[in-house]
Amino acid sequence: MIDKKDYDEKRPLEMHNLHFDLAASHLDIEDWILDKIKHPRREFSVKFPLRFDDGHTELLSGYRVQHNTLRGPAKGGIRYHPSVDLDEVRALAAFMTWKCAVVDIPYGGAKGGVQCNPDSMSQSEIERMTRRFIWEISPIIGPEKDIPAPDVNTNPQVMAWIVDTYSVFKGYTCPGVVTGKPECIGGSKGRLKATARGCVYTLQEAARALGMDLDGKTAVIQGFGNVGYYTAHFLSELGVKILAVSGSKGGVYNANGLDIDALPQYEPALALNAPGGIEAESISNEDLLCLPCDILVPAALEGVLNKANANRIQAKIVGEAANGPTSPFADDILHDNGVFVIPDILANAGGVTVSYFEWVQNTQKLFWTEEDVNKTLWSIMSRAFQQVYDIHRKHKVNMRVAAYMLAIERVAEAKRVRGIFP
Ligand code: GLU
Repeated sequence: MIDKKDYDEKRPLEMHNLHFDLAASHLDIEDWILDKIKHPRREFSVKFPLRFDDGHTELLSGYRVQHNTLRGPAKGGIRYHPSVDLDEVRALAAFMTWKCAVVDIPYGGAKGGVQCNPDSMSQSEIERMTRRFIWEISPIIGPEKDIPAPDVNTNPQVMAWIVDTYSVFKGYTCPGVVTGKPECIGGSKGRLKATARGCVYTLQEAARALGMDLDGKTAVIQGFGNVGYYTAHFLSELGVKILAVSGSKGGVYNANGLDIDALPQYEPALALNAPGGIEAESISNEDLLCLPCDILVPAALEGVLNKANANRIQAKIVGEAANGPTSPFADDILHDNGVFVIPDILANAGGVTVSYFEWVQNTQKLFWTEEDVNKTLWSIMSRAFQQVYDIHRKHKVNMRVAAYMLAIERVAEAKRVRGIFP
C-alpha cells in the first residue's frame, strides 16, 4: 500500500511521485528501471537580469527540466507565472513524459518556466524576457533535442519570438524549435484549439462509456484561457449547457446556461460590469467547483480539487484540462463518490498531439488541412481513451492509475530495450 499520510497537497512534485508509485505498484517492472524513469533526466536553472520599461532591473529565475528522452526528444511547454519554481517544473515535465506515452507519440517530456508576474508586465518586457530566457537555455533545446510550446501565460506570439531568437543564433530559420507558433511561420492549423478539442473528444468517449447522452447535459468550467474558452465553445456546440465559467478573478453563473459568445476570454466576470451586461450572477471559484452539474472541467492550475472540497464535488465526470488539478487525496474521495475522472495526462493530451503534427509538418515541409489535423487527433485520442479504459476495467483501478500504468509500461519498455550506457 502507498501511504498518503505525509503527503503535502500543495506540492505538485509529491503529487506526481505518488501517482507514479501507485501505478508502479500494479506493474511488474524492474526496480532500476522504475528508479530511472521516475526522476528527471536533466535540470537546467538560469538566472538572468531583465530591464523593465521604467529602467529598473530585476534578476529573474528560469528553469527547463527534461524529465525523459527515451522515446524521442523532450517535449513540453514554457509557462510564465509567479508560482513557477524548480519543483513545479519537475512535476510538470514528468506529466509530459506520461502524457506523450499515453497517446503514443514519439517524445519524452520536458517543461520550462520563468518565475514572473506577466499580468503586470508590458508586451516589450515579455518579449525581452522571452528572448533572453531562450538564449540562456539554447544549449539544451532544438528541433531534435527539446521542443518547447505554449503553456500558462505563453501563446503563439511568444513562440514566434522563440523561433526568431533561436534562428538568429543558428544563422538560418528553424521553425521546428517550437510548436504552437503562428501559421505564417510554420504553425499547424488546429493547434490553438487542440487541447480543448482533445479534451472534448475524451469527454465524448467517457459519456459513451458511461451511457450518457451529452445533448442537454450541464457543464462547469474553471479557467477561461485558451483551453477553458474553447472547451466551453465545443461543449456548447454539442448541446451541453454551460452553467458557469471563471477566470482568476472569479466567475459567472446562470442556472439556465450562459451565452458563451457574450463572454470575454480570460476574465469572463468582466462581462458583468460591461455596458448592456449579461444574464448571469457572479460566483467565486470555490463555489463554482462545487456546483451540481454533469461535467466539471478544471482548466487552470494545479491542486484545485483537494481534501478540502473533494467531498462537495457534484459532477459526474471531471475532465482534467489543466495539468495536475486533482490531488491524490481528492482522487480517492472522488473515486469513492462515483465521480469518473479523466486524468490530465489523457484529457489534455490533444495539445501536445497536434504539436507533434506541427513538428512532423515542419520536418517534411508539407502542410495538412485542418480537417486532416482534427481527424487524426480524434483517432489518437479515442484510441488512447479506449486503451486506458480497458486497463481501468481489467485491473479495477481508477482512470488515472490506468493511464499511468499504460504510460509507465511504454517508457519502461523503451529503457529495457535501450539498456544502459556504457
Ligand atoms: N503545454 C501543453 C501541455 O501541457 C502543450 C505542450 C506541447 O505542446 O508541447 O500539454
